[in-house]
Amino acid sequence: MAMNKKRQAIWDKSNGHCWYCGCQLGEKGWHADHFEPVVRNLVTGKPHFPERDNEGNLVPACASCNINKHSMPLESWRKIIAGYVVSLNRDSTQYKVAKRYGLIQEKEVEVKFWYELNGLY
Ligand SMILES: [Zn+2]
Repeated sequence: MAMNKKRQAIWDKSNGHCWYCGCQLGEKGWHADHFEPVVRNLVTGKPHFPERDNEGNLVPACASCNINKHSMPLESWRKIIAGYVVSLNRDSTQYKVAKRYGLIQEKEVEVKFWYELNGLY
């Protein structure tokens, strides 16, 4: 079964990769993400930036990235992802034990999104 035209156009922007992590998206189950967040009022649901709700601002994202990004500006989200290892080392016994036994090796890398690595935008 084919996607509708609008979803197909969004999908085509990355040839079916998640805009952020780069995973291959299935035909179903991916989200059309507002690259620049529309940020909805928690009570009324009204968008603070309704002008951002247009196809040019929609990118394909896996459900996990879309939910994790939520309505954050990109640079805030990048900082949060970059901080996950610090949190794991502080809070997760399982992570610390797994690391001690060599199951996890940390690398100091910058958080780069798939679209940046692929020269899009
Ligand atoms: Zn993703």
